[in-house]
Amino acid sequence: MFCWQCEQTSDGTGCVRSGVCGKTGRISALADLLSVGVKRLALAAKAKRSSGRPDREADRLLIKGLTVNSTGMSFDSVSLSALIGDVEACFERIAGELGESFWKGPDFKLSETVSGREEQGAELPLGSFPEIEERLSPQVVSMRESALYALKGAAGYAYQAKKFDREDWEIYQGVEDILSMSLDPALSMEDWLESFRRAGRISLRAMEILDEARTTIFGHPAPTMATMGRKRGKAILVSGNSLGDLNALLDQVEGRDVSVYTHGGLLSSHGYPAFRRGALSGHYGTGWSNQDDEFRRFPGPVVLAGGCLRRPHPAYRDRVFCSAGAAWPGVVRVEADSDGRKDFGPVIEAALECPGFESGSWGPFAAVGWGRKALLDSVSAIAGFIEAGRIGNILIIGGCDGSKAFKLYYRRLEELAPKDSLILTMGCGKSRFIDLSLGGIDGIPRMLDLGQCADAYSAMVLIWSLASILDAAPGDLPVKAFLSWHEQKALGILAALMGLGIRGITLGPAIPAFFHSDVLSLFAATNGLREVSNPEADLAAALGEGCEISPSGIEAPPKGFDHWTGRGGLRFGPAK
Ligand code: SF4
Repeated sequence: MFCWQCEQTSDGTGCVRSGVCGKTGRISALADLLSVGVKRLALAAKAKRSSGRPDREADRLLIKGLTVNSTGMSFDSVSLSALIGDVEACFERIAGELGESFWKGPDFKLSETVSGREEQGAELPLGSFPEIEERLSPQVVSMRESALYALKGAAGYAYQAKKFDREDWEIYQGVEDILSMSLDPALSMEDWLESFRRAGRISLRAMEILDEARTTIFGHPAPTMATMGRKRGKAILVSGNSLGDLNALLDQVEGRDVSVYTHGGLLSSHGYPAFRRGALSGHYGTGWSNQDDEFRRFPGPVVLAGGCLRRPHPAYRDRVFCSAGAAWPGVVRVEADSDGRKDFGPVIEAALECPGFESGSWGPFAAVGWGRKALLDSVSAIAGFIEAGRIGNILIIGGCDGSKAFKLYYRRLEELAPKDSLILTMGCGKSRFIDLSLGGIDGIPRMLDLGQCADAYSAMVLIWSLASILDAAPGDLPVKAFLSWHEQKALGILAALMGLGIRGITLGPAIPAFFHSDVLSLFAATNGLREVSNPEADLAAALGEGCEISPSGIEAPPKGFDHWTGRGGLRFGPAK
């Protein structure tokens, strides 16, 4: 096997025997076979679209195939093999409909069996045909992989939006175009650079329709204090990113005397009006990196609804349920029926059989809910503060959680940020610093949590609005980004930010293994992309020598947010 698509890749170069994430060589082979399958299907769908007949079944399968093939999603050979079969059947159907030979690639005949497919996939490293790979320079491979992984991230958001019946034909068209390009060995690094930028635009559009769906269905998030305390009694933990699954579970748990807690990316749910209801009792734990310890200690079933899954330990595996694309062999999946309805009854029954919390406790709290509308309600004030010099810069500090101790880098970054910095956070990486209290700038908290990684869209809307008010290009605003990436959705956000023209992007904890030095040099020239070093040096590099880093950024919160506290905070108690 060979896989280098995520930040945790072995030795920072590539996983070759087994994945650090838990992926086996056999699963990796099926993942590579699925990659080839979606490229072939994209070519077929594009050919059919060219004849004026877009094929939506194909497009939806492409989005699903890319999503399921992302880091931390499917580790289950049976469901992966079934999806490969669906993709190939769709390819054959379209080929039959077109009645002409559009396939110019190497001969390919899908094996009928799971083991046969594993053998086939093992011959297709990097999810491509060797006949194509041997004609490509390392620079082209690097730029192509960058574009394809950013596209996977975009697909993850489009897949979530589809769950709310939101689709966009331009997203599908872009996915077809970029995937089918992978079968052309004649393309240059410049061609793939353009595709990387297009993947960024697709990512932005996918985040936009997801945001539109969520705010229409669940209301606009508003600044809220989410309790990290617990109630005595039976409990269910929901991790991942699927607000739809969380909502369905809350509906079904009503009247059952069971409390529901969020984990990881679902912390953001507490900001939405629709989730302010009795059964949603609080947030538990931190993020992806601590799953094993936190799931083990939780006294009830755990639902992994999309997002990043780690290998479930046998100590708690029998009380884990997967949904929203996540899968692990032997772990029960909550599947949607033909009406799209999911039955969480078995999860509720498991909760009633588990001990639950023996006692309750209040707090601490996490401040969440600075969604698009809340930001836009404050955009005039923020623009005024920038003009008046009260806000010197806007720092986007967001992205994935990760297992490396170096993630504490981001906590230190928050502490040291100059006091005239407005800090926007999103994604699971904030679990490392969400407890910090950084004070405010004339009533606006200095640290605003926008939500999940998909809510990077809100940051981009704020940037557009500020640019419009201040009559400046987005790239000319004092916006700097410090992104922690772990998997492909963060790459989609990186590509989107770069496409906006943001200059001064610090990427960590490590530069992607698939970035060739020439690709990195190019990104450094266009967007000032650089790898993290240490917080002091990186702030100086981003903001300019002489920027006044704050030796102790911790101070009292602004008026109106004085019930803020955290794990490192001062007092516990119910939110006002
Ligand atoms: Fe390795 Fe990441 Fe690939 Fe898993 S997804 S096999 S950890 S590079």
